[in-house]
Amino acid sequence: MRVFTNARIVDVVDGRIIEGKAVRVDKSGKISEIGESVRVTSSLERGEEVIDLDGRYLFPGLISCHTHLSVVFPFSLTDPNENPAVTAYRSAQRANEALKAGITTLRSVHEQNQADLMLRAASKSGWFEGPRIFGAGRAISTPDGHGKGGACSYAKDFDGFYRAASEELAAGADHIKIFITGGLAHAGESPDVPEMTDDEISGAVKAAEEHGTYVVAHAGESKAIQQALRLGVTSFEHGYVMDQETVDAMKAKNVFYSPTLCVTRSESWMRAKGFEEPSIQNALKASERHLASAKLAIKADLRMTNGTDYPPGDLVDGIPAALHELFLMHDAGLSTLKSLQSITSTAAQLIRQENSLGQIREGFEGDLIALEGNPLDDPQNLRKIDLVVQAGRVIRSSL
Ligand SMILES: [Zn+2]
Repeated sequence: MRVFTNARIVDVVDGRIIEGKAVRVDKSGKISEIGESVRVTSSLERGEEVIDLDGRYLFPGLISCHTHLSVVFPFSLTDPNENPAVTAYRSAQRANEALKAGITTLRSVHEQNQADLMLRAASKSGWFEGPRIFGAGRAISTPDGHGKGGACSYAKDFDGFYRAASEELAAGADHIKIFITGGLAHAGESPDVPEMTDDEISGAVKAAEEHGTYVVAHAGESKAIQQALRLGVTSFEHGYVMDQETVDAMKAKNVFYSPTLCVTRSESWMRAKGFEEPSIQNALKASERHLASAKLAIKADLRMTNGTDYPPGDLVDGIPAALHELFLMHDAGLSTLKSLQSITSTAAQLIRQENSLGQIREGFEGDLIALEGNPLDDPQNLRKIDLVVQAGRVIRSSL
């Protein structure tokens, strides 16, 4: 279908550049061949389009791992009775912006009215262009927990969480999202407060395991993280306040961690979006210990993934939130290669797509971006993306 020639392929697993290659993506949208440019272009099939990358770096499409496409700013304007069509339009616009920013896949971890599951269905039928979506549907919250007022699913006790989680999975959710502590979103709320019992966490984990999937936890502090680790949660988000013992326990279980550093370091963006003052102050006050926790996680060599908590294509200080997060993780001490893996190959492991997404390899999906500068020299080179390709289709090009 399409051949991308004269590419310098970035191997994000080994951290090396493979020079002078051509990448062929077939009708199914998968990479069918990677070979020498000269040889592949001499064997063009009829109707095949050639795109000359002229020595640009070819990088896997980005995978953003903690997204809310339907979120309303400020949070207090969330209408729990909103018509699902309105939620879907808002989410579709954010999804489309993310795709244009190079995010060809995203993992959503709570969408009002299960907008993520609706968009995925619309996209499969060809009615909508957006990233590949791995969705949680609605998050499940205790009635007075972090999800209060956020149009979540609400539950109590083992049976309540088991039933609520089973309901999201039956609707097509790929994983289950819970809140094991408070957060920073609301006045008077604190990430230091655990808010689920052992039984409640176990109910969610049981439902997820019965469907062959996993639970992702909004996790503010150490004690609740250790509780959830013990009960089988494998994906942790935020970690605003984590101690050494906790990151060691996370490492021992080889779980995933999305620090979402941009949540506590995007003041200008929050102001521009009309966030209320208590939310802004909560975020800024947590920012120092949040960074210290992320640094502990980096030192302990946890599997780090890129999550924004915001629509990942939203511009923060002029760059898409997902890249803002990548640069923050890099500045916090994550190596260049691991920073790049956090938004490609490690992210693919998290969503259990390591054999089809997150790398440029034969048999993988044809999700690609092209850049002028080498991201292995400096991740900041991701600021200038000249081409976005999803399943072999050109989404955006300035070549
Ligand atoms: Zn979130």
